[in-house]
Formats: sequence, structure tokens, C-alpha cells
Amino acid sequence: MALRLTEIFFSLQGEASRAGLPTVFVRLTGCPLRCTWCDTTYSFTGGEPASIDAVLAQVAKYPARQVCVTGGEPLAQKECLPLLGALCDAGYEVSLETSGALDIAAVDPRVARIMDLKAPDSGESARNRWENLAVLKHNDEIKIVIASRGDYEWARQAIREHRLAERCPVLLSPAAGLVEPTALAEWIIADGLDVRFQMQLHKLLWGNAQGK
Ligand code: SF4
Repeated sequence: MALRLTEIFFSLQGEASRAGLPTVFVRLTGCPLRCTWCDTTYSFTGGEPASIDAVLAQVAKYPARQVCVTGGEPLAQKECLPLLGALCDAGYEVSLETSGALDIAAVDPRVARIMDLKAPDSGESARNRWENLAVLKHNDEIKIVIASRGDYEWARQAIREHRLAERCPVLLSPAAGLVEPTALAEWIIADGLDVRFQMQLHKLLWGNAQGK
């Protein structure tokens, strides 16, 4: 079965510990969630069919060691798992951006999983698959987008209750236009929360331009 592909592009990684590294992005089409602040709604539908070999050939056109498979929700496509393995076999440093709503256990262990936990203002926090926490490794990362003080307090509670920072790095990111980045930074400092504050580098550089 073919993958369904929205786009492949070369840019700088905008998030998590690989921020700033030249990266090829492979954006798969489709997502079963509808986060209120989603900035990739164009990936929900459309896209073109592509084989794993075709994706590898397109990725190879760029001079990058880092490849990020993203969406949408890439794990919603069955062929995502063999794609991740094939990218690792080809020698790339591979990361996966995933919503946290689907099972991540079968992802190739060489892949760094950047897994969201959805806070309440996303409208999708009932979809968090908490069982995923048990399979996270130290080279994975948990990302929580914060859209309000209420989201922040939810995240703080989740971090403490589930000892998230002991499992892997935890990233808190302000939702663009919904919470002041400075406010989030100050809340983290006031609580001494063991997380990494992050701004989306690609948005600082290029705004909401697609393919950046
Ligand atoms: S999981 Fe990601 S792609 Fe899907 S709706 Fe939420 S933010 Fe958008």
C-alpha cells in the first residue's frame, strides 16, 4: 500500500532538541484529531500517493542527515512504520512528530519520538493515550502546547503526577497568538518546572509559510 504524502521539504528543524538543524521534512496526509489551534490543517486531506522508495529518492535530493516524519498524524497511516525503518536503514537521524493519541510502541527504536500530550484547550485531551508514557525512552521528547493559564496548570499537574521529566525531556510551547510567550516563561520560572520552554523557530523566521 502506498503512503499518502502532503509534502517533502528542506528547512531548519523548528522544535525540540534538534531545533536549528537542517532537516528534511516528510509530511504525511491525514489526522484523526482536530486540535483547535492546529497550524497544519492543509495536511488533513488531499496529498499524493507515494511509495517508500519514492520518498527515499526525494529525501536523498537534499544534503541533510536529519529527517523528520510529521503530519497530520503520521502514525494514522500503516505504511509510516516501514517508512521510518527504511529511513533509519538509509543512515538518517530520524525523528517522528506524533499526536500522542495513537500507539507508539511499534515505532523503530532508532527513531526519536516527539510525542504531544494534548492540554484541554486543544479540544483533544480526551484522546491522550496515556499508555504511551510507559514506552518512552530518554531520546524521546514530550511536547505540550499551552494555550492558556488553565492549560499550563493541567500540564504542571500531568508533569508531577506522571513524573514526565524522569521519562524524557518535556517541552512546553506557547500556542501562537493565544498565550504570551513571556507569560509562559514566567509561570515556568515561578514554579521551577523541570521542562524546556520552546518557541517554534520556523515561525520566528518565516511566520506561517507552508513548506518552511
Ligand atoms: S494532532 Fe497535530 S495535525 Fe492533528 S489536529 Fe492536532 S495539531 Fe493538527
